[in-house]
Amino acid sequence: MKYHTAFFDLDGTLLDYKKSEANALSSAFRKLFQDSFPPDIIPVYHGINTVLWEKYEKGEITNEFLRVERFRQLFSHYHIHGDPEEFSSLYLGYLAEGGYLLSGAVALLESLNGAIRLAALTNGITGVQQSRLSISGIGKYFEQIAISDTEGVAKPDKRIFEILMQRMGLESTEGILMIGDSLSSDIQGGINAGIDTCWFNPGGKDPGDITPDYTTATFNEIALLLVSRR
Ligand SMILES: [Mg+2]
Repeated sequence: MKYHTAFFDLDGTLLDYKKSEANALSSAFRKLFQDSFPPDIIPVYHGINTVLWEKYEKGEITNEFLRVERFRQLFSHYHIHGDPEEFSSLYLGYLAEGGYLLSGAVALLESLNGAIRLAALTNGITGVQQSRLSISGIGKYFEQIAISDTEGVAKPDKRIFEILMQRMGLESTEGILMIGDSLSSDIQGGINAGIDTCWFNPGGKDPGDITPDYTTATFNEIALLLVSRR
C-alpha cells in the first residue's frame, strides 16, 4: 500500500473558491454601497490579494492585517470612499456562507472514505473555512482539519504539516500524500515537509521549477492514484 493518508487542500482543490469569492465580493459591495460590484475590479483585487497572500505565506504579514489591507488598497486604487474594515467584515461573513464544491468533489471523497485516512490542510481564516466545510457537507470526511489561521503557521511552512501529522499520530511522512492546486503552498509545502505531493492541475498550467511527484487533471486520476495502488 503506497498511501494510507491523504492531506487535502480545500480551495481550488475541493471547494470552488472563485465562486465563493465573486459572490461575497458582490454581496458586500451591494450591502455597503447599495451598488453592484464593477466586474473589472475583480482582476485588480486578485492582483492585490495575491501579493498579500504571498507575503502571508512567507510569514511577513499577519492574516488579520491581510484581511483589511487588501480592501484598503483596492479602495485607494479606485478612489472609493468606504471603510475597508467594515467591507472586510461584510465580505468574510458572505464568504463563510459560500460552501460551493467543485464538481465531483463529493464522489471523490466518498470513494476514498474508509479506504484511507483523510485530513484537510488549508491556508485560510478559521471561522470562514469551518463554516464552508460545514455548509458544503464535506467536513465529515476529514479526521482532522488544520487551518493556517488557527495554527499560526501557513503552508508552505513544514510546521503546519508536522502539526497535522502529530494530531493524527503519524510519526513518519511515508505513506502520506499532499494533494492541492497550489505549487507555492501545497506542493512546495509537501516538499519542505518531506511528504509526497500530487498537484491538482485541471487548467494545465506550467509547473515552472517546482516538481510534484504526481500531476493530475481530474478527480478520477486522484482516486486511481490513491486506491489502485493499495
Ligand atoms: Mg488551493
